[in-house]
Amino acid sequence: MKVTTSAGRTAPGPAETFTGTVFVDPVRTPDEHTAIGCAHVRFAPGARTFWHSHPKGQTLYVTDGIGYACRRGGDPVEIRPGDVVWIEPGEEHWHGATPDRFMAHVAMQQADESGTVVTWLEPVNDSDYPAAR
Ligand code: MN
Repeated sequence: MKVTTSAGRTAPGPAETFTGTVFVDPVRTPDEHTAIGCAHVRFAPGARTFWHSHPKGQTLYVTDGIGYACRRGGDPVEIRPGDVVWIEPGEEHWHGATPDRFMAHVAMQQADESGTVVTWLEPVNDSDYPAAR
């Protein structure tokens, strides 16, 4: 057994893969013991991921605020605490906060044979992101 304290593990979401202010608390990174990748991710109002996909899919569990999840070709779906989102393997999508609310979720994604949990694509254009209500 190993306990890792929370101190010092909150890291900014990189500008290369997120729009706006995002903080990530890693929970588990895949290694020789497990394929599980997991993080708690907090999005400030207006912040969202770039478009991306996951080779083994992804499960999101919303813990706070109001956000959106959106698949390529679909409309953004509002997500709230307690909601669970399953994203199919290879399905291009983004997730993030609404324009006027924070949103936090636990993200769970399994590594593929090469250790990859995510393939990043282009930013979500403002024209594809809902305006404030
Ligand atoms: Mn995702």
